[in-house]
Amino acid sequence: MYCKINDKFKEECGVFGIFGTKEASVLTTLGLHSLQHRGQEGAGIVSFDGKAFHSARKQGLVGDNFNNKDILSKLPGKTAIGHVRYSTTGESKPENLQPFFANLAIGGFACAHNGNLTNTYSIKKQLVESGSIFQTSSDTEIILQLVARSKKKKIIDKLIDTLYQIEGAYSLVILTNKKLIGVRDPLGIRPLVLGEKNGSPVLASETCALDMIGAKYVRDIENGEIVVITDSGIESIKPFKKIPERPCIFERIYFASPDSLVGNKTVYTYRKALGEQLAIENNVIADVVVPIPDSGVSAAIGFSQKSKIPFELGIIRSHYVGRTFIEPSQTIRQFGVKLKHSVNRSCIENKKVILIDDSIVRGTTASKIVKMVYEAGAKEVHLGISCPPILHPDFYGIDTPNYNQLIASKSSLKEMTKLVGAKSLFFLSLNGTYKAMGCGKRNSKTPQFTDHCFTGEYPIDVTEILKLNR
Ligand code: AMP
Repeated sequence: MYCKINDKFKEECGVFGIFGTKEASVLTTLGLHSLQHRGQEGAGIVSFDGKAFHSARKQGLVGDNFNNKDILSKLPGKTAIGHVRYSTTGESKPENLQPFFANLAIGGFACAHNGNLTNTYSIKKQLVESGSIFQTSSDTEIILQLVARSKKKKIIDKLIDTLYQIEGAYSLVILTNKKLIGVRDPLGIRPLVLGEKNGSPVLASETCALDMIGAKYVRDIENGEIVVITDSGIESIKPFKKIPERPCIFERIYFASPDSLVGNKTVYTYRKALGEQLAIENNVIADVVVPIPDSGVSAAIGFSQKSKIPFELGIIRSHYVGRTFIEPSQTIRQFGVKLKHSVNRSCIENKKVILIDDSIVRGTTASKIVKMVYEAGAKEVHLGISCPPILHPDFYGIDTPNYNQLIASKSSLKEMTKLVGAKSLFFLSLNGTYKAMGCGKRNSKTPQFTDHCFTGEYPIDVTEILKLNR
């Protein structure tokens, strides 16, 4: 999410909500913990106890902040929503942590958002000009402002009124004094699933959060669907004209947890198939296949099984440092790569090595690791990437840098190979990527995914954001 002109503010987030159960905030904490890979900068929970709303938002990891009775006793009630947030560009202000809460004329309204809105600037400009005061630099705040200002009577109609004005990617989890509401944008870019724990409905970004609390997966929230959960049951509202969904392909490639279910298969299955397809498309001769952990592991297994080249854990990852991208500056990020990975010499020395990773963004991880592997005595280092080159930035809720920092956007394959220092560098084709997803070929008229990172075809207009990012 990002908002003011100068805030190059992007977030990747996870959302969770549970309705009508004892210890709702404890279950929300567990759900958020399992969604931690979607955001490590901060987390928040809002609960409702039948009379009042309670809120806690903390910078840092869920397990470090929501792990004791003190904090959870301040979040009583049978219904709660939560959010984990990931921002990368220094906008680590506590006021940007979600869920956001507002006391509207018709009652309390808490909202947690995963995704980026694309027309924030123009809406915010109008709102500010007509007297709205903003407290955060997050685009999510415009949702609350628009709901508050809507002339409609009922909360659902106010929400629909708002959805008709906003554009972009959004999976929302909303809590009012009677309702838990889930919303997915018309293209269903970011995920949102419905589950059930002993009769209590649950909403979560991914099914791994359902598994964590022993909830059953019921179904995905459809693109353009609103689900309204009350004491009388679950109602589905579809306020938009039905269009084919376009989920973000990068959720499957990198972002979602490998154990989460997408379209009845685990994300791991897709990633392994991406690795298999990469081996079909490229037959490099080598002694070992080594994943860049953790992101390259599933694809490397697929690549090794298909190519029959032995799989070895030639790189060891420390689990005591966060994702490379969390580091805000390039200098620290480079240092971070060293802190994060070390070489297991015994699998590398005198070997021709194929390293596998899921993606290359800036090229920082790859170049550090290729160097380390050569230093450890490898004869040859090849690098296989289980997706196509990332040529275009994302503006729908996955953090990727601007064009000038995307290595594939500014360099040819030959230049990239030189920059990362590998003997060869190979990517998966776009059609191969679709094939691994079980889609056959990419349908060029209505692509099955939102795949602008590879194609530059943005399904929702991003002119406003491109102008601001210049
Ligand atoms: P880079 O070092 O900039 O080339 O980043 C590539 C590494 O970051 C790969 O290991 C990816 O798995 C991981 N990665 C890819 N996309 C993202 C993202 N949006 N946020 C955080 N990490 C990412």
